[in-house]
Amino acid sequence: MPQFTCPKCGAGLEVKAGTHIATCQYCQTTTYIDRSTALFFYLVPFTIDETKAKGIFKRWSAGPSMAKELEHNAVITKFAKEYFPVFQFRRLVKEKEQIVVKPAKGTTLPGMQNLVIPPGSLTIFDTATATDGAEVLKPDLSIDPYFEDLPGKAVDQSIVYFPAYEVTYTFKGEKYELVIDGSSGDVYTGPFPGRSSGSYLSVMGLAAALGLFGGLLGILVNPVFFVLVIAGFFAGNILGTKLVQKSMESKK
Ligand SMILES: [Zn+2]
Repeated sequence: MPQFTCPKCGAGLEVKAGTHIATCQYCQTTTYIDRSTALFFYLVPFTIDETKAKGIFKRWSAGPSMAKELEHNAVITKFAKEYFPVFQFRRLVKEKEQIVVKPAKGTTLPGMQNLVIPPGSLTIFDTATATDGAEVLKPDLSIDPYFEDLPGKAVDQSIVYFPAYEVTYTFKGEKYELVIDGSSGDVYTGPFPGRSSGSYLSVMGLAAALGLFGGLLGILVNPVFFVLVIAGFFAGNILGTKLVQKSMESKK
């Protein structure tokens, strides 16, 4: 069993087998313990309260790319305020400091892979820290595998509790998930009930009409241009497909 010391006061830490978390008996600082490291816990405070977060969801569900009735017919089945643990890696890449954030807990939630920690927002997390009624989720991933893919050299690493609202809702019998960033108010969503099929048809329709119009114009100018009827139609469809792909990408 390796020996760990408290990163704040230097006292020896008693780490129970099978656990990743130790609390210093002298200064009460909570520390994350991995095979090779003892890490500080930090916390990013909530700046978005539940009322605000629900307003954000409401506005999001009324957005222009959402299914029409989503705003009124989405039924929220879970609205959990929580602190989600992430690893923060400070790296030195080409003489510049770069911060990489990775989940410290297994998750399929959208957005948790790419969180951004607002600069200057970190406070040390210990037993005295107020958690604003949020559930503090425990890390369950090891930090070691991440080191293989990180850029540059290590400056330091820590665990940060990230403020988040985990939202589950149903719409037309389907279940959807999203996360609202409790610090920035950003919405991270996976697949959602969108208007994409409608917009696809209208763009395709417009493209086909333009192609046909070009083709007819061609026939009027010179019968040789008759091929433009076909060419214009296909070009219109290809353009339409590209437009739709673009608009779908921008919704992600
Ligand atoms: Zn200590």
